[in-house]
Amino acid sequence: MEEVASFRDFALVCQDLGQTSSRLQIAQAAVDFLARLPVEDAAIAARFMVGRPLPQNERRLQVSGRAIWRVVLQLVPNNEEPGEEIFTSAVDFGEAVELLLRLRTAEPVPSLTLGEVERSLAAIAEIEGADSRRRKSEILLGLFARATALEGKYLAKILIREMRHGLSEGLMLDAIASMAGRSSAEIRRAHMLDSDLGRIVQRFHPSTISTAQVDAAVQPAPELAAGLREPSAGRPGPIRPMLAAPATSITAAFEILGDNLAVEYKLDGARVQIHCTPSGVHIFSRRLNEITESLPEISEMVAKVHKEQPIFDGEVIAVGAKGEAVAFQELMRRFGRRRGIERLRAEQPIRLFVFDVLAVRGELLIDTPYQRRYELLTELANTAGLQLAPRIVPGSPADAREFYAKAIANGYEGVMAKALASLYTPGARGRGWLKIKHARTLDLVIVAADWGYGRRHGWLSNYHLAARDSVTGEFLEVGKTFKGLSDDDFEEMTRRLQALKVAEHRGTVFVRPEVVVEVAYSDIQRSPRYPVGMALRFARILKVRVDKSPEEADTTATLMAEYERQLVKPIKLAQ
Ligand code: AMP
Repeated sequence: MEEVASFRDFALVCQDLGQTSSRLQIAQAAVDFLARLPVEDAAIAARFMVGRPLPQNERRLQVSGRAIWRVVLQLVPNNEEPGEEIFTSAVDFGEAVELLLRLRTAEPVPSLTLGEVERSLAAIAEIEGADSRRRKSEILLGLFARATALEGKYLAKILIREMRHGLSEGLMLDAIASMAGRSSAEIRRAHMLDSDLGRIVQRFHPSTISTAQVDAAVQPAPELAAGLREPSAGRPGPIRPMLAAPATSITAAFEILGDNLAVEYKLDGARVQIHCTPSGVHIFSRRLNEITESLPEISEMVAKVHKEQPIFDGEVIAVGAKGEAVAFQELMRRFGRRRGIERLRAEQPIRLFVFDVLAVRGELLIDTPYQRRYELLTELANTAGLQLAPRIVPGSPADAREFYAKAIANGYEGVMAKALASLYTPGARGRGWLKIKHARTLDLVIVAADWGYGRRHGWLSNYHLAARDSVTGEFLEVGKTFKGLSDDDFEEMTRRLQALKVAEHRGTVFVRPEVVVEVAYSDIQRSPRYPVGMALRFARILKVRVDKSPEEADTTATLMAEYERQLVKPIKLAQ
């Protein structure tokens, strides 16, 4: 029988998960809980369990830990002193909120439901404009006032998207597979096609499951156009973008991919996925947020081929008055905006380059070789007047090297090498696409920052940079830098990092690993002071990668590979 989906039950299950160390048991406990819930609630609970407040392609909440803390303090009498103490001594932010809520004179009777919590979070995500902070706090106050201390703990964790009970998205997929009696591979494929965990749970939940539906979810090709992939909300889900693995040179790319490859300019902009569907055009960012309203000119650009219902993969760049590419930050001003679009559109024009097509006329093409997809792409681009990323199919490595040199001379950051026979592997850094970049750069995550002195007094200005351990997912420090940012950037970064603060010790603020930065460096050297035994020398921040999530940051394995590469062929980079 289905249970009432109370938020209290959810919190209790999470508490159990937190005390379990076996991955298998964690997955089992999660499944047992989800299977007992009504299907809509199971979807919400699955997202919450991995620290996702809302469906994948919905707007983000934009609530800082600081704002949550302030709200909770309001609920506690004589709150100032114990608040500070708790904040520094608790294991994590969720526990700090729990301890603080225990200081209330009385606990409320548990009454929150999963549905209510999600609706409140959705309402918060909708708020924008002048008075938004106050309006968001009001909703939060309403939620926390009704939450028990334990519920408050998990509410806070969901809000800051950090559950810390070892239930990763991958493990959750395994759990869903076991709930549905399907193989993990099948569920992972369904997840590639619709990255929202909640919708996957809905599809494979015991109470909705029927063979026909499951088969359709795993193999949606012919039904795509009919809207089978469209969730109940009537919106299509984005496909996880295929990722590129780094390669050290054109020669290396030929060694890895073989001779049958294409080389394309690597455009330095932001990834977009454009779905032309019967319900209209939907545009998704690399992080799978829907940004349709922010980029109306893209919907116009694809109008001529709309009836073919293509899904395009491409890159958007911001251009200046003379059509030249301008800084990435300018482009980011356009992303995720919903107000003043017409003005922004005039102020900051954009250009779209398409480089792949993932579906046409309802047929999914991810299992079609890249060469064939490219032929279809060319036809569609010609019809619509869309621009393709500059590309050659080189006759020899020498041709490719010349093309690469031209790309660099023209100011591009490098090239992409793509095997003609490769399939589109959503979400995976497959061996089909390689990126060959000119500069030595890594995408790293800021895990801490030091308060500056002298001219940088009052700013968090020395950043501790971390790479992701590919096995444990942990962020391990690999260097520090205070170079590369302007005064305005320092100010903005200080604000962002303070909102992510988890602890402070002797002038160093430790933060949740959320901010990804692209870092240039001269070389990697052995250093026993760092956990991976090596560190970057002369690191400098090139840009803040707001389009990348911390999970997409470069790994310690890439760092090692780069280290090995430089042993073979040391290169001196001008600072
Ligand atoms: P990176 O962000 O450094 O990991 O490099 C991969 C990204 O390069 C992709 O996610 C795209 O956003 C971008 N990109 C630029 N040009 C191309 C291209 N021709 N083909 C594929 N991706 C490209």
